[in-house]
Amino acid sequence: SPSYLIVIMLLSCLMARIGISKSHDVFSSNLQALDTAPEPSHDPSAIASASQDFGLIVKSVPQAVLFPSSPQDIASFIQSNYNSPAPSTIAARGNSHSIRGQAMARNGIVVNMTSMNENPNRIVISPDRKYADIGGEQLWIDVLDVTLRSGLSPVSWTDYLYLTVGGTLSNSGISGQTFRYGPQISNVFEMDVITGKGDLVTCSPNSNSDLFYAALGGLGQFGIITRARIPLEPAPKRVKWIRMLYSNFTAFSKDQELLISKNERDDNNALNYVEGSLLLNQGSLDGFFPPQDQPKIITFISEFGIIYSLEIVKHYDDQTNATVEKDLQQLLKGLSYFPGFLFEKDVEYIEFLNRVRSEELVLRSKGLWEVPHPWLNLFIPKSRMADFNDGVFKDIVLQRNLTTGPLLVYPMNRNKWDDRMSASIPDEEIFYTVGFLLASGFDNWQTYDDQNMAVLQFCQNAGIEVKQYLPDYTTKDDWSRHFGPKWNAFQQKKQQFDPKFLLSPGQSIFNS
Ligand code: FAD
Repeated sequence: SPSYLIVIMLLSCLMARIGISKSHDVFSSNLQALDTAPEPSHDPSAIASASQDFGLIVKSVPQAVLFPSSPQDIASFIQSNYNSPAPSTIAARGNSHSIRGQAMARNGIVVNMTSMNENPNRIVISPDRKYADIGGEQLWIDVLDVTLRSGLSPVSWTDYLYLTVGGTLSNSGISGQTFRYGPQISNVFEMDVITGKGDLVTCSPNSNSDLFYAALGGLGQFGIITRARIPLEPAPKRVKWIRMLYSNFTAFSKDQELLISKNERDDNNALNYVEGSLLLNQGSLDGFFPPQDQPKIITFISEFGIIYSLEIVKHYDDQTNATVEKDLQQLLKGLSYFPGFLFEKDVEYIEFLNRVRSEELVLRSKGLWEVPHPWLNLFIPKSRMADFNDGVFKDIVLQRNLTTGPLLVYPMNRNKWDDRMSASIPDEEIFYTVGFLLASGFDNWQTYDDQNMAVLQFCQNAGIEVKQYLPDYTTKDDWSRHFGPKWNAFQQKKQQFDPKFLLSPGQSIFNS
């Protein structure tokens, strides 16, 4: 009847508005009919911005930049490049938040993924609300925004949300949720990947699984991710957000490890996020700590030189509002933080997830965001963390006193990672990530890099088998050591999916 039709039409409009679709048509319809390959742009300003990244340390000038409007554009461009007599290297550029030129292509072609953002509806929630199909070019902040409108959310995040889905899935995508939900690469049902030959392949654990696992943590070597199907869960409304301070590393790490041991995905009593960081004599603290408490914290830091800050979050909503405090007390019982040094906030879920954005805006206003970032990110086996604390935090870091930026330290559970994926992690059940997320001036970033070298040298001398996260290696030996037992398979899959070694040359794995 006409009224039935009107209801259907209204429902479809509503579903489109809030991002729910009957299928992932919007993705597949883009893939019909192979056109002629699109022409990349030689516009000097496009080339200039594709020559740098967030790190502002490396500069590699491409010959041109492709602005695709659909995955089909990318597939036909790669196919025609592959078949040309002198093919160019090709780098997908997500939001270019790499540190060392990983998304660049010297004399090659940079594919500016975010130009597909102009194509609407590339974040589509499934009718059963269990997942979203998301364009590889989409920023996680936009994913959050769209899914929250339907009361849903992905479960595994990065600290900062202005990164693309394809960019973080090519690394791992880690944060305080990783201990319980796994990294972002453990939270993907299916992907569309365009290989180095220009084939668009839909892959999942059950279909084309070779490519699926290769691309997750694959550093862009096997193909360009144009769609990822990401699981969703009901979003919480608010979070309890707590930091506890320790003067003693052993007590700090023991408590972190205790808190991540309760990590069943569907255990409503487990924490949702566990991280940690070092507080050093920086003269000021970030805005988390109440202004009236800051003087006592600064005194505490000067007394010990280093203070360890354990950070946790517990989600809650209308149903759990009444019990969240009690559950938290239960979880925090017996922890050995310094008495009187627990600080708590109660904020909206989105405010917590998007927390780094407010820091970014402050730094931008002071001209301190677009500066060199000589970062070093490591994965360290738990059994060597005490040695790392003594040799690196208490020696190298304290002596050099380079304190412009956060220094993160938190543990994760290996069993939340899938060994079939390309990502390489330490061979221990619990391992830590340490991130030296420092910002420098344009004329002194080498001083910071010297500290990075000293850290790596210390680990080598002490026999601590660290893996770099967001790795920056330049020799085949280093890459082979990094991937360890996965190196042979990594090379074979490169032959299979990118036989001319064209993709993601900025990682310097196969193109030095
Ligand atoms: P890009 O830098 O553009 O690309 C990274 C690599 O992936 C390149 O090799 C590129 O060629 C390839 N690539 C890009 N898009 C695709 C695609 N669609 N398909 C295949 N390959 C592709 N990481 C974490 O895990 N956790 C964090 O908490 C975290 N916080 C960060 C905070 C800041 C302020 C910054 C700058 C970075 C942070 N990172 C974090 C690191 C970040 O995840 C990586 O740098 C990531 O690569 C950035 O995404 P991007 O979209 O900018 O990728």
